[in-house]
Amino acid sequence: MSGYPEYLVIKRQRCGVCEGTGYVMHPLWKEMCDELVTPLSDEMARQWFREKGCDVPPPEEVECEVCNGRGYIEFKVPLTEALRELGVWNEC
Ligand SMILES: [Zn+2]
Repeated sequence: MSGYPEYLVIKRQRCGVCEGTGYVMHPLWKEMCDELVTPLSDEMARQWFREKGCDVPPPEEVECEVCNGRGYIEFKVPLTEALRELGVWNEC
């Protein structure tokens, strides 16, 4: 740490988990898709979810837990690091 004051900027990056959409497939839906090769009829799908303890099938997509549905993640980084990354500042 070089001392104070320290200048920080917010670096916003696209969320890699939901790829910026803010939503991901519900874990149970994913499990069903991974487990079953052929598509199920609506009734068979409901039955499958009942066996997993869901009386009603959950929504197919849920908010991404990594970015809380925003589609991006933010970090605080030192200003000098940001400028270096942007190629604006080259001094070490
Ligand atoms: Zn996300």
